[in-house]
Amino acid sequence: MSLPIYHVANTGNPPKTNIVIFTDLDGTLLDHYTYSCEVVMPLLARLSQAGIAIVFCSSKTRVEQEVYRKKLGIASPFIVEDGGAIFISKGYFSFSYKYHRVTRGYQVIELGVPYREIRRILKEIRENDNLAIRGFGDMDAAQIAELTGLDIAQAKLAKKREYEETLNLTGSEQEIRLILSKIGEAGLGWSRGGRFYSVSGGSNKGRATRILIELFSQKLGRIKTIGVGDSFNDVPMLAEVDVPVLVQKPGSYWEEMKLPNLHRVDGVGPRGWVKAIAELTGI
Ligand SMILES: [Mg+2]
Repeated sequence: MSLPIYHVANTGNPPKTNIVIFTDLDGTLLDHYTYSCEVVMPLLARLSQAGIAIVFCSSKTRVEQEVYRKKLGIASPFIVEDGGAIFISKGYFSFSYKYHRVTRGYQVIELGVPYREIRRILKEIRENDNLAIRGFGDMDAAQIAELTGLDIAQAKLAKKREYEETLNLTGSEQEIRLILSKIGEAGLGWSRGGRFYSVSGGSNKGRATRILIELFSQKLGRIKTIGVGDSFNDVPMLAEVDVPVLVQKPGSYWEEMKLPNLHRVDGVGPRGWVKAIAELTGI
């Protein structure tokens, strides 16, 4: 009787590397002026089919991002308000991990300071130093819509802030610099996005990205991370990923930033997104 022979086929394929894409929304995945995502929809559908996770990493609020998650059929965790918190649908990661609260079916990792606390400190600075500080919390939905190009319903969602205030600073460069230095002295952090300055309790897109990279590595094993952004507030996120990509701003130019291995793609916002991601993923 011969012994059974076990044969393990060697196909020569390297172990599968899963791709995770971290992406900014405004001016990157979404058109800077219209906030439309039409251009990216066919590619996003193919990426989802291929099992590639798309992680929103934006200054937008949870309720704003939920609109796009629903429209695009995205179930991945997402980073809100420039890293103020990470929202993870219950059960997305099968292992246990540390989170701070549960709400609406999400496990929430909170990294920022509550919005009301940020507003309290900003009010103090405004009154003590008589500075022109105006944030979304000082405006109604109509005023926000006017400034941003959002419609009224979208502007109402943009006002539902939990971890970060959005400031519209219109003074001289010197006045803006003074306001930003007072914000820093008060122990808050700030960053500059496509249109506005954002003020938080020192959280940023990078720390949140790093936490999710760890969780995805635990879920998927070896991963390759791609990050896509358009503005300064994306730098901390881009610094954490394997392949950082910078799309162009309207007018076909890139924000000036120094980052090793930065891929500057020829293409404004979502058009650049499609070009870079199609090329990098081969999908
Ligand atoms: Mg942006």
